[in-house]
Amino acid sequence: MATDTPLIPSTPFTQGLAAGRLRYQRCQACGSALTGQRYACTQCGSARLAWCDAVGTGTVYAVSAVHRAPTEAFRALAPYALVLVELDEGPRVMAHGASGLAIGERVVAHPLQVGAQPLMRFERQPAP
Ligand SMILES: [Zn+2]
Repeated sequence: MATDTPLIPSTPFTQGLAAGRLRYQRCQACGSALTGQRYACTQCGSARLAWCDAVGTGTVYAVSAVHRAPTEAFRALAPYALVLVELDEGPRVMAHGASGLAIGERVVAHPLQVGAQPLMRFERQPAP
């Protein structure tokens, strides 16, 4: 696969990634923070949703180790983790992660460019 074509289609979420921002949707009617890209709020049904920037910190909710990456560009990064992170704002996002992350660890997001694909990579949050 050519590395100059992003693997993920352009959406407000991926456009945020390209700008180094981790975004999520928040309902303007009830204030709920939503996981994934929605057309209506999962709590109240309102279509008044706005994209917000996340702070970029959260907790590992689930993790899987990747030893055989799907493309040449990702093979250079292996081993790494696929992580489901619960952001401090509430939504959960699937992202790239540092190798060895475990459920419950505090993490912080950093922009990562793999070929033409902008991503977020979560790494352990340094102790305060
Ligand atoms: Zn709502």
